[in-house]
Amino acid sequence: MSVPTDQQHMEKIVNLCKRRGFIFQASEIYGGLNGAWDYGPLGVELKRNLKNYWWRVTVHEREDVVGMDGAILTHPDVLKASGHVEGFSDPMIDCRSCKAHLRLDQLIDKKGVKQCPNCGSKDLTEARQFNLMFETHVGAAADESSIAYLRPETAQSIFVQFKNILEVSRKKLPFGIAQIGKAFRNEINPRNFTFRSREFEQMELEYFCRPEQGMELLEYWKEERLKFYDDIGISRSKLHVRNVPDEERAFYSKGTYDIEYDFPFGRQELEGVAYRTDYDLSQHQKASGKSLEYFDDETKQRFIPHVVEPSAGVDRTILALICDAYGEDQAPDDKGKMETRVVLRFHPRLAPIKCGIFPLLKNNAQLVAKAKEVVALLRPHMHVFYDESGAIGRRYRRQDEIGTPFGITVDFETLGEKDPTLRDTVTLRDRDSMKQRRIAIGALVSTLRAEII
Ligand code: ATP
Repeated sequence: MSVPTDQQHMEKIVNLCKRRGFIFQASEIYGGLNGAWDYGPLGVELKRNLKNYWWRVTVHEREDVVGMDGAILTHPDVLKASGHVEGFSDPMIDCRSCKAHLRLDQLIDKKGVKQCPNCGSKDLTEARQFNLMFETHVGAAADESSIAYLRPETAQSIFVQFKNILEVSRKKLPFGIAQIGKAFRNEINPRNFTFRSREFEQMELEYFCRPEQGMELLEYWKEERLKFYDDIGISRSKLHVRNVPDEERAFYSKGTYDIEYDFPFGRQELEGVAYRTDYDLSQHQKASGKSLEYFDDETKQRFIPHVVEPSAGVDRTILALICDAYGEDQAPDDKGKMETRVVLRFHPRLAPIKCGIFPLLKNNAQLVAKAKEVVALLRPHMHVFYDESGAIGRRYRRQDEIGTPFGITVDFETLGEKDPTLRDTVTLRDRDSMKQRRIAIGALVSTLRAEII
């Protein structure tokens, strides 16, 4: 099903990302490198919060999952066995008019006639297969024997280390191995901001099981992953589960769900949850000659485990988080006049900065000193930002725009000048409701921590 696209909305998001330091074009001062992105001071915080939360719920909070961190440079035999060297390709077509390289599925179809989406030309080449892997050479010799690849997915290093990890972790089936890391694909046409990049990060779990558990675990992990998106604040109404039909699934997969999100540029895949049977381990066992079997103590059987794989993109999830959080509303400025407020409504758990701390006036030494005390109190517990410049309303707006969920203002009441019972209290402002309440400085750590964990 198609959903309306909103180019203007997307442009606002891309501009905000650059203006406030979430995401920049890589190598920008040299004209940019297509398909590569740099995360700025706020982007890197958002990304870390996402990865840490995924790691927490996938590894730390579970008995049955351990982690690993594999190499990016990959032996060619690994990717020959997995099928990537032979078959990890997209059909590519060239436009003879504007010379664009296009993926077959990007062509416009007008009454059965294919056209170039850039210039409208019908003068197109035949489709040919284009391998998406980045090839490189390891060591001084640049010949056949030195070829290596930048990994196109994190999963293969998990399969290749299956036996080592099984031995050291002493896990029993079902159990999983999780990994977060970079992957590289020489995409024919990177586009839609960070959505389709050539360098990106994945969060992958390979959950090994007995063959008879595969289908049930596929359902289980689909539900777990939907819950994850809920827990990071992505609107459930914009998420869709697509049961990938037989003809689109990899031949070895017995079931695959795509979790899709309604981006401003259309509904697109965020994550794939696939039951990959015993394909990967069998292939590596065959090619390496090393046993990758599991020995079941109880039944005394040896067999190759099956696997269910939830595979999510870090960058796509970041983009979904930003698109989902972006909002504009009307709010009074310092003089009470209504103005448009741009706000990123990140879940506090994901927000790059948890709390802005402001002395009401910057030229009052007591207010500044007290505000800095609050900074020192909170800093060991969360990422905070101190700001003393400009009217207080402006300072709130600057934090709203980057998604800071809480603002603390140190004012004359804090100093106990008017009402001694209010000494050492501050105003705590909520980003979304813009409501303010008085709270004791001593209660700040526990109150805020409860919101951000
Ligand atoms: P697509 O069909 O969009 O190319 P895919 O089905 O090839 O994606 P998978 O191989 O299943 O993707 O990879 C798992 C996840 O890795 C994807 O759901 C996505 O979040 C992320 N991912 C894959 N390719 C890219 C890319 N080029 N840029 C950013 N993220 C990507």
